[in-house]
Amino acid sequence: MRVFDPHIHMTSRTTDDYRRMAAAGVRSVVEPAFWLGQPRTNPGSFGDYFDSLLGWEPYRASQYGVRHHATLALNPKEANDPRCKGVLDLLPHYLEKDGVVAVGEIGYDSMTPAEDEAFAAQLDLAREFGLPALVHTPHRDKAAGTRRTLDVVAASGIEPGRVAVDHLNEVTVAAVKDSGCWTGFSIYPETKMSPPRMVSILQEYGIERVLVNSAADWGHSDPLLTVATGQAMLDAGFSADDVDRVLWRNPIEFYAQSGRLDLSELPEPEATFAGSSVKRGGS
Ligand SMILES: [Zn+2]
Repeated sequence: MRVFDPHIHMTSRTTDDYRRMAAAGVRSVVEPAFWLGQPRTNPGSFGDYFDSLLGWEPYRASQYGVRHHATLALNPKEANDPRCKGVLDLLPHYLEKDGVVAVGEIGYDSMTPAEDEAFAAQLDLAREFGLPALVHTPHRDKAAGTRRTLDVVAASGIEPGRVAVDHLNEVTVAAVKDSGCWTGFSIYPETKMSPPRMVSILQEYGIERVLVNSAADWGHSDPLLTVATGQAMLDAGFSADDVDRVLWRNPIEFYAQSGRLDLSELPEPEATFAGSSVKRGGS
């Protein structure tokens, strides 16, 4: 099984996680910019974080044979802090960079006027820079938040096929699918979405324009739940090709719209895991 995790916060994970992911078949990841727990007090703090997502983290991933790309944005939660507003002026400089494959995560946390403004402005940036957009849906009042999200996406004029609406569940999937946007699901150990529930959604709604991620972050989460979902699909009668489509080809199709996805010369996972990624092949 080859796996592309389209939404995972590796900054909050250990190198042991990279090692386990590579061994299980996770060969490529996209890390969206998000909040770091401790509130940031100025735009420069975001600049250093963005540089880390485009420099240090891809390097750390590469040591385990995992390809790393990023999506950049002012996240919904910190969009409410006036001290962070300057991040919107910082973004154009960063959105030009090679490792950036989308604008994100944007969207709503508490659905405030400040979030409205940052969300719309960043959808405009996605259009301006020819990038897809990764949109977070709120964890509270999810149905209303998702409806409002889809209204804002429609009003922006961005092509729905260039937008992924993430953290969906049984209640919100149908509206997003009808909108033409990609449907994203974060598989968590206890909350949000489990592998068996994900399989039921795939059985009901099909495997097109679906992204399955582990979203692994600071909380209780598991970077191998993408792999567990693939196994649950096989156990439920989906073919290996279906699993490959959902866990590998779909995320590639979505992020390739940036024109910047680079999956060339990915090393064989087992060679890397054995610690011989540089000198494999004898001599
Ligand atoms: Zn996230």
